[in-house]
Amino acid sequence: MPSRDEASIQRAETLLSQAQLAQDSSLKRSIERANQALKISKEIDDISTTAQAHFLLGKLTRQARQNKSSRHHFLTASAIFERLSDTENYILSYAGYINALVKDKQLNQADEAISILVPLAFQYGEDFPIASTLIAKGDYHFALSQHSIAVVQYLMAIEYLTAPESDIKNRNARTLVRIAEAYKRLENREETAEYYEKALAIYTDLNEIKSMARTFNTLAEAQRYLGNLVLALDYALQSLALHGQIDDAEGRAKALMGAGIIYRHIGRYEQSLKHVHQAHKYYKKVNNATGIAKTSNQIGHIYFRLQQFDQARSFYMLSISLPEEKVEPKTLATALRESAIIDWNKGNYASATLLAKKADDIYRDSNDKAKQSKTQRILANIKRDENNVSSALNYYRESLALATEIESDVYQIKTLIPLAAMLIDTNMEEAVRLLKSALTLARENGHKAYTLESYRYLRLAEKTKGNLAVSLQYAEQEIALSKVIQEDINNNELALEKAKLHSLRLEIELETLREKNKLDKLELARKNNEIEIAQQATTISELELTKNRYASVALALLLAVCLILILLIYRRFIVSKQRNQELGYLATRDPLTNCFNRRVLFDLMKRDFARNPQSEDYCVIMIDIDYFKSINDSYGHTVGDSVLRGVANTLQSCVRQNDVVARFGGEEFCIVLPDTSSHQAMRIAENMRETIQVCRFDDIAITCSLGVTSIRFNATTPSELIDQADLALFKSKSLGRNQVTLWSDALARVQD
Ligand code: GH3
Ligand code: MG
Ligand code: MG
Repeated sequence: MPSRDEASIQRAETLLSQAQLAQDSSLKRSIERANQALKISKEIDDISTTAQAHFLLGKLTRQARQNKSSRHHFLTASAIFERLSDTENYILSYAGYINALVKDKQLNQADEAISILVPLAFQYGEDFPIASTLIAKGDYHFALSQHSIAVVQYLMAIEYLTAPESDIKNRNARTLVRIAEAYKRLENREETAEYYEKALAIYTDLNEIKSMARTFNTLAEAQRYLGNLVLALDYALQSLALHGQIDDAEGRAKALMGAGIIYRHIGRYEQSLKHVHQAHKYYKKVNNATGIAKTSNQIGHIYFRLQQFDQARSFYMLSISLPEEKVEPKTLATALRESAIIDWNKGNYASATLLAKKADDIYRDSNDKAKQSKTQRILANIKRDENNVSSALNYYRESLALATEIESDVYQIKTLIPLAAMLIDTNMEEAVRLLKSALTLARENGHKAYTLESYRYLRLAEKTKGNLAVSLQYAEQEIALSKVIQEDINNNELALEKAKLHSLRLEIELETLREKNKLDKLELARKNNEIEIAQQATTISELELTKNRYASVALALLLAVCLILILLIYRRFIVSKQRNQELGYLATRDPLTNCFNRRVLFDLMKRDFARNPQSEDYCVIMIDIDYFKSINDSYGHTVGDSVLRGVANTLQSCVRQNDVVARFGGEEFCIVLPDTSSHQAMRIAENMRETIQVCRFDDIAITCSLGVTSIRFNATTPSELIDQADLALFKSKSLGRNQVTLWSDALARVQD
């Protein structure tokens, strides 16, 4: 009998170590072996091995995401270790048990277990058990969304993970990743990136390619949030390169999506689509609904950016049509929300409302107040455009209440401004009060665009109240801030262009490497050819030899030169084709009016300013439709849009071929007249004013106010020139509208 027992003991131990070894290669086999070991050790009543087997099975089933099993094994192991007075393993398996409880959201039980384990671990005094306990505690707080407390626990744990063994280092790196994740939830972008970097350093040191590849991807995301797009792209591409070396299809899909998102942020939509699409294909292949939905949404976002709204909508609809229980609620809500926005923009208010309400329900269920505030705002916008004023006001107020509750300044500002804008006509006092709080919040947070918008509405409100002096003060602040914003935009664009250039350079380098490789092969082939020729030569006469060899070498050389030329031409063709495709994407027209958009306007003017020898005159007209809001209010947005189109057509018909008509904003247009004197420009402007006054747009009579300026008034930048025209326009408005004003120094002095 004893000999049979001994053999069994040995067999169980062998199985256990086999299970341990198989862990990385095949989880399934590893679990099988450990279960066999467990069975044998139970049969022969070898409790020590039984405990070890349970402990290992706890870890293995956790890895296999079989949470219930994992919990059972850890708990059983810890009970046996306690009986055996094996304190170290008791603590470690009990920490595993807590971890499983947390994953199962059994947080009360986890809390109780932690209060038993922590003092015990410190009393025992060994580093690794203390660290494991603290990490379990950190995970518990993480699950409760107490991310700051979680960070403290993890940081303490790391103090106990200093031993040089590689499994301790690995645990250290995983804890650093957890810290980064907690900081990510806390929206502390710098710390997030910093801790991912630290984890990456350890994984690199340990040469754990899979973890490196995955961390590069999360790090790329962190850098993207920080606005470091070049770095983000580098990291994303490194992640993809590493994924090329290993078998981690899911990680690779994530990396493809990550890279795709970064490409979208730098405006390289084609590349973005290519990457996200590959991830999408993978998720479809393995039938992973969550992944399909996420990538569909991403593709939707890309088409949205490209203003191909029907395409975008069909991808959001794909997410929406997936079985609801298989898609993360958050992902589904995004698809619903974004398609609501598309439908709203198209004027399909009924379906927009339906979609937004569904998104809102999801956010309500998951108690995501920030997103609720956002959907309430979207609903308000829809109702406002439907002319359902009372409903719109209710939604805005609800959105504001939620934003205030979660203390989100940005969400408050985003709602305060349109709410106030709606109230200007009916409740001026509240409107001004709301605008002032929007202004304060926007200033405190350094949100220049919202500060500008607050100024704008305050200017309008004060003007409506008849306080022209105060209104003018706001106008002054508005102009000063516009300049700053324009500079910021220029800087941002520069950063974007840099990132784009960087990514193109990477691709060209890659292309060059490929070509070099081809050329090397070509060179080799040529040499082989020569050798062959030389060998053949020995068999023929001396004379024939010289003749033949020279002819063949010349032929080979000619062939090589031709091939090189073809390769070079092909390369140039590919690069230029790609650039053209991308340029095509950069939309130049405003979709509603088909006028040039604001970006093109500035680009053209910048180009003109760089070229203009100053000997030519150069004028700008700013036009704003009078009381346009009342047209929307009386006839609805669709008619408003049609009037806008009509006005745009009329303006186009009043100018010459080389003049530029651009939509500057809502119902404001800017016209650039090269090689035109201020006198001529005034005539053109007057003609526009008269034409618009006599035309009917959808049977509606309207008027407009105009401001004219010329480069002769010493503007040195496009923005300055536009500001002058704007000020002249403002003068036309304050003099009663439906008139043209030429800029003059006197206007500037009023402003000063
Ligand atoms: P003012 O004489 O002072 O210019 O009065 P206004 O009502 O024209 O001035 P305001 O700038 O307050 O109103 C502009 C309105 O234009 C507000 C907005 O609802 C509307 N608007 C902006 N963009 C669009 C658009 O694309 N379509 C439609 N239909 N309306 C728009
Ligand atoms: Mg107007
Ligand atoms: Mg306006």
